[in-house]
Amino acid sequence: MTRDRTSPAPTSRAALARLAAVLVLLVAGCGIVAPRSMDRQGADSFEDDIRTARTLTEQFWTQHFQQLGETYRPIADFIPYSGTSGPSCGQEQSVPNNAFYCPIGHFIAYDQDWMESLWSEMGDGSVYVIIPHEFGHAVQAQLQTSFRLNVQMELQADCYAGGTLSALVGSGALTAEAGDEDELLLSLEAAGDPTDNWLDPAAHGTAEQRQSSFATGYRDGVDAC
Ligand SMILES: [Zn+2]
Repeated sequence: MTRDRTSPAPTSRAALARLAAVLVLLVAGCGIVAPRSMDRQGADSFEDDIRTARTLTEQFWTQHFQQLGETYRPIADFIPYSGTSGPSCGQEQSVPNNAFYCPIGHFIAYDQDWMESLWSEMGDGSVYVIIPHEFGHAVQAQLQTSFRLNVQMELQADCYAGGTLSALVGSGALTAEAGDEDELLLSLEAAGDPTDNWLDPAAHGTAEQRQSSFATGYRDGVDAC
């Protein structure tokens, strides 16, 4: 996900309030932390959250594929980068302030400075939205899901992220804390997607659409996506 520069500062207050209300009910507060790594001061490091988000998301999909009689294929690599030093995806150079899934090579890469700034400014919920969203694209690739419009692919990845998070909260792998719903909503607003060069820049979906898709997954699970 990149910061989506093309979308206007989005989302009416009413829509946000509506979704916030939904998520309050669903999440009963949010600020998502992993019990095992959470110390009493709530001082998980950024690196802890990144690692936990990756591990739990792949555990979720592994189990979900098993339930469907299929085998989840883990990503081949998970690559932090800084600024312009990231890996390329085919012909496309990675760009600063982005996270993306690359189907060529089946890897996820992210600008770690950008991610850490989101984590600092918005809380750990940002990591627990962005990483599962990118894994959503990895799952789409594995399922060979085809989309007529890019926006449909993006919104499904948001829905997958919501479904992943609710499953992890439901299983107790993650806990949600008071205040988390705002964090998740802000994260969705901030989250864009792979670079505009290989995806239609107009096709990320509005903040409201993205939040709505996320809420659908959160409420009904990934099978509803
Ligand atoms: Zn995406």
